[in-house]
Amino acid sequence: MLEVKNVTKVFYSEQYGNLTALENVSLFVEKGEFVSIIGPSGCGKSTLLEMIAGLLKPTSGDICLNGQSITGKKGAVAYMPQKDVLFPWRTIIENVTIPLEIQGVKKARARQEALALLPIFGLEKFADHYPDMLSGGMRQRANFLRTFLFRKELMLLDEPFGKLDALTKMQMHKWLLTILEQLKQTVLLVTHDIEEAILLSDRIYVFSPRPGTIKGEVIVPLNRPRTQEMITSSTFIEIKKTIIEFIKGLT
Ligand code: ADP
Ligand code: MG
Repeated sequence: MLEVKNVTKVFYSEQYGNLTALENVSLFVEKGEFVSIIGPSGCGKSTLLEMIAGLLKPTSGDICLNGQSITGKKGAVAYMPQKDVLFPWRTIIENVTIPLEIQGVKKARARQEALALLPIFGLEKFADHYPDMLSGGMRQRANFLRTFLFRKELMLLDEPFGKLDALTKMQMHKWLLTILEQLKQTVLLVTHDIEEAILLSDRIYVFSPRPGTIKGEVIVPLNRPRTQEMITSSTFIEIKKTIIEFIKGLT
């Protein structure tokens, strides 16, 4: 479904001159797959997602969705940025219906459609609450719902659990695993959490420090539905070792 072909991104600033954020990155995501990119801070993960979302143009290379170039084109995929994008002055329901409004859906219908989805996102009691009345986990579920309502076949998630405490993060993983079974979305997730990547993904790309290049690709052979208990299985630990070795540059 998604193909990133030899993408390089060089930023230029007066202060630092040329800075290569990503170099010659090629990867793909098949329909229905959950793929993660794992890499250290500053290796160009967010830059790559912004390029796939069409918000930034690669310096060279091409990005294709279902065989069509989407390089520099906005709106082809759903994108959940690293920062919380909920507007504090809009209620949860008013926030999550923004994508529908952008698509020209009438306000009442948009509200109806989003209300029907609130229970799946664990937000049914919070439709008319403002974002600052919600916990971090709930706000992220609202951000997820907003991204989902762009109704695109591919969803890009940039460290959606990065700022959550360990226990909330575990609950969110459990929740995401359940809803993914229902929603049948194709997902490309960016993270720096190895266990999160293994638990959620079918495949993982391991990136080097800046300039980001692909150091390895790992297939996760764990069955679905996935459960948190798998984290202590021998298969899980083997995969974790492989990833750590890629990161250390031993393989
Ligand atoms: P990651 O998401 O992996 O932490 P980023 O993609 O945010 O990394 O950034 C990769 C590198 O590119 C960093 O060194 C960052 O400072 C630089 N960078 C990102 N955006 C810009 C920009 N708009 N202008 C200049 N440099 C940038
Ligand atoms: Mg980032």
